[in-house]
Amino acid sequence: MLDEKRLTILTNGAKYDVSCSSSGSDRKFKSGELGNACLSGICHSFTPDGRCVSLLKILMSNDCVYDCAYCVNRRSLCTPRATAFPDEICELVMQFYKRNYIEGLFLSSAVVKSPDYTMELLFETVRKLRVIYRFNGYIHVKGIPFADSLLVERTAFYADRMSFNIELPSEKSLKLLAPQKEKNAIIAPMKMLAAERYGEFRSKKNFLPAGQTSQMIIGASPESDAHILRLTEYMYKNYRLKRIYYSSYIPTNPDNPYLPLNPVPKIREHRLYQADWLLRFYGFTAEEITDNDGNLPLEYDPKSVWALKHADLFPVEINSASFAMLVRVPGIGVRSAMRIVAARKYAKLGFDDLKRMRVALKRAKHFITCGGKFTGTEGESVKDFLIEPQYAANGQISMFDERFSRGQLYAGERPSLYGYSPSPAISALTGEL
Ligand code: SF4
Repeated sequence: MLDEKRLTILTNGAKYDVSCSSSGSDRKFKSGELGNACLSGICHSFTPDGRCVSLLKILMSNDCVYDCAYCVNRRSLCTPRATAFPDEICELVMQFYKRNYIEGLFLSSAVVKSPDYTMELLFETVRKLRVIYRFNGYIHVKGIPFADSLLVERTAFYADRMSFNIELPSEKSLKLLAPQKEKNAIIAPMKMLAAERYGEFRSKKNFLPAGQTSQMIIGASPESDAHILRLTEYMYKNYRLKRIYYSSYIPTNPDNPYLPLNPVPKIREHRLYQADWLLRFYGFTAEEITDNDGNLPLEYDPKSVWALKHADLFPVEINSASFAMLVRVPGIGVRSAMRIVAARKYAKLGFDDLKRMRVALKRAKHFITCGGKFTGTEGESVKDFLIEPQYAANGQISMFDERFSRGQLYAGERPSLYGYSPSPAISALTGEL
């Protein structure tokens, strides 16, 4: 049985992997309140139908033979090391599951001994969970670059989701900061799993039903947001990834001259999630939302930036604009656009109808007309209505104000039966606009 000391080491080591959604928060336990988003161990992920599931998030081992400069498990760092055996993880999962602590497992690992040895440990764990312990819950397992492709494929056979982390967005940065890794060793298994899952002749619906994800560290290396989003777009198109996670670099290695000394602001990560949302659901391309090789502006969300740059395309008439154009209006999301298109078949829509549909009119009114009527502002001053509160001259509440997470703000903007406008808190977590 895994003792408490090893359990603490292995769950702490997994904390920085955000590819299962809930990492990165520094909200600690406070007396008189419930919960702690800072502790390692159990995290949350979201299923495609929106359900939130609790996962045991743990490493098989943190005893890495590699020395990636940005990582807390790197070989050269003097830190307590531990490795678990497959049966120990299986027993832990079953115990926690029976006590209703978790609904699934997120299993990752440092490279212990060799990529094949590590992949074999991971494979054996998921195989035993499914075949011997008869565990039918959710399993997300990390793939190990350079591991034998047959081992990867067999592991995927038992898992719901697999992820190979890109980590750094270019080969040059990988060489500099993670010299034992190679871009192709990360990309090739992704490609193989995508072909297995979606291949023209071998499409297997039950193979990796929750698909693949990946993770990139933001700001550890100098690549711009434009570069990151082009890579993201390429991976969504070519490997059909379900999701790419962005993790702002947290300084863990002050001795490395190539790594920044200060943490990367969370708002940059947030802007990338918003841009990612535009790529996946709004029909934007990376080229449209980024400037040549620059970063996303921090003061405005990427859809507002696009709309401000294309002022000549607005205002659009709500009663006749195409769906593709409606979703490009700041303040109108995919769900609101669908409702508008459905409702206008029966009657002409006015501003009151849009309000009832929960369109964020405060933002949208500067870009639309309803029955030819325009109630917004024109010219440069539109920017004042789109700027994020923390950048406004009057210095309003920060997007990461902890009251968001306690539900004390914007409670009125929660999803409803009639429509949906994501609250700033939800948008901060998902990137939805
Ligand atoms: S291989 Fe993974 S665990 Fe090992 S040092 Fe690199 S990033 Fe960290």
